[in-house]
Amino acid sequence: MTDTIFGAIARGETEVELVFQDERAVAFRDISPQAPVHLLVIPRQSLVSLAEVGENDTELLGHLLQVCARVARQEGLEDGGYRVVTNVGGDGGQSVFHLHLHVLGGRALGWPPG
Ligand code: 5GP
Repeated sequence: MTDTIFGAIARGETEVELVFQDERAVAFRDISPQAPVHLLVIPRQSLVSLAEVGENDTELLGHLLQVCARVARQEGLEDGGYRVVTNVGGDGGQSVFHLHLHVLGGRALGWPPG
């Protein structure tokens, strides 16, 4: 896959402030927040999107979802609720081609999304 800014973040090559990190994942604030809290959770491993994952990635995906719940709790979103979403490809609205989960909260979110 081609490298992306998220690849550089995952490798610790940029100045971005991480809200969480471990050996498999990092979480940081979206540069253009769409809600009072808007975090991105990414694997350190290079994966383009959900469309690329296979059976070997099952544990990693479970871990990424756990990290989403953890950072949402850390940000005080648990009581009010929040949304976790991943965009895939052009129609999905994906603009950075390194798998990432958006964690959005801090306001009531509309449904369906645009
Ligand atoms: P996508 O549209 O691919 O689902 O989401 C990409 C997200 O990454 C967007 O919400 C965008 O604001 C965010 N983003 C793009 N470049 C950067 C960056 O350099 N730093 C951070 N923190 N967020 C970024």
